[in-house]
Amino acid sequence: MEEKVKKNKFTKVIRLEVDKPIGEDWPAFNKKMFELQKVYSDMLNDYCLNFFAEIKKRIDEVNEQGITLNKKSVKMTDIINFCNSEIATNYKDRYTSYAYSQAYRLMQLKMENEWQDIFIKKTKRFPFYRKDGPIHIKHERNIYGCGIEENNDDEKVKRLIWLSIFNNSSKTIVLLRNNSFKDYNLPIWERLLKGEYKYGMVSLIYKKSKRKWFVNISYTFDSIANEKLDPGIRVGVDLGVVFPVCMAVNSNHDRLFVKDDDIGLLRFRRQIEKRRKNLRRMERKIFDNRSGKGRKHKLSPLELLEDKYENFRRTANHRMSKWVINFAKRNNAGVIVLEALRENDKKQKYLKFNWIYHELQTMIKNKAEEAGIKVETVNPAYTSLCCSECGHIDKLNRPARDKFHCIKCGYQEHADYNAARNLANPEIETIIQKSSKKNKEDDNSLFA
Ligand SMILES: [Zn+2]
Repeated sequence: MEEKVKKNKFTKVIRLEVDKPIGEDWPAFNKKMFELQKVYSDMLNDYCLNFFAEIKKRIDEVNEQGITLNKKSVKMTDIINFCNSEIATNYKDRYTSYAYSQAYRLMQLKMENEWQDIFIKKTKRFPFYRKDGPIHIKHERNIYGCGIEENNDDEKVKRLIWLSIFNNSSKTIVLLRNNSFKDYNLPIWERLLKGEYKYGMVSLIYKKSKRKWFVNISYTFDSIANEKLDPGIRVGVDLGVVFPVCMAVNSNHDRLFVKDDDIGLLRFRRQIEKRRKNLRRMERKIFDNRSGKGRKHKLSPLELLEDKYENFRRTANHRMSKWVINFAKRNNAGVIVLEALRENDKKQKYLKFNWIYHELQTMIKNKAEEAGIKVETVNPAYTSLCCSECGHIDKLNRPARDKFHCIKCGYQEHADYNAARNLANPEIETIIQKSSKKNKEDDNSLFA
């Protein structure tokens, strides 16, 4: 078999919270940024409309002539020049600054790349920019744009992002919130600082619900070409009934259970649910008579709780996905097999960790991609009832939630491990097809 070392480029994003602006106060910063957001959306929407009017004319002309539609035949360069000059004229008294030239250049790129999808194939929607949408600033190696910095002399003003986007040439500097750096994004930040990862677009986002500014930094890197990874070695990741995650590998008996105690998922969940209930009741009492207008600037206790909940879940998922990848790496597995999650899945309904799985799977996929490991999904129906030793499927194989005991061959194992072992088996779908045909059991009775 021919083996190729392929280098793949990946683009990913880390999100960090803005702690405060440096050298100006919040009202000044907000005023400046909200205004920029507005100009930004006006300008981009205008650009789209101009482009739309022009391209429509050209497409009609080309169609009439019966020639092939492409960049050349629609005279793309002319369209772009027209749109750019329109924007330059209409917005010259607003921000004749970097922010503005950035905005339309981004739009120009988008249109050049996606015009066929938007106007002909209609696979992409006509873009629309909200008044409170993100402000994108591209990092370029000159005085304009943006950059990240770390200040080691002062712990209180440590990690910073500067933006140089306005006319007056003074930089806007924001301090990033220390506790938005977690064990999963701190190494990325450090690589960005060292230049090992290249960052491109930095987006400033205002979350109305949280009344906070965030910064998204997108960065690119090559996937690690790991020659030790063997595509024949497969790790099965079972989203367990008893444990959140259980892993098995088809090459040896290595296994890994992520226990709830390791991350405290259930305890946290119970606490949160209880407090959420109480807070809801309280907030209803307090806020019922208020008019809808003029909400308090501060976050409500309920909003703070939701914030905490989201943070906890994300951190837990980052940790678990890291363990999955490490398990695969230590076994040199080239493939990770996940259960195909579906909405309203019967198994999903009774999984007590249901609330974390979608995000967890996404994180596993992302991290696997980065490590050069392939991810496959398998329909999980029957994987919990199928014997990973002989392939016999029977609901009687599961005498208890945590026990697997094959009534045919006598194989005994932890139920989650048996399921993970099934997922790791490259033949599992064939085995299940054959066995379930033999059984002709009803789906419902199997999952009773
Ligand atoms: Zn068996």
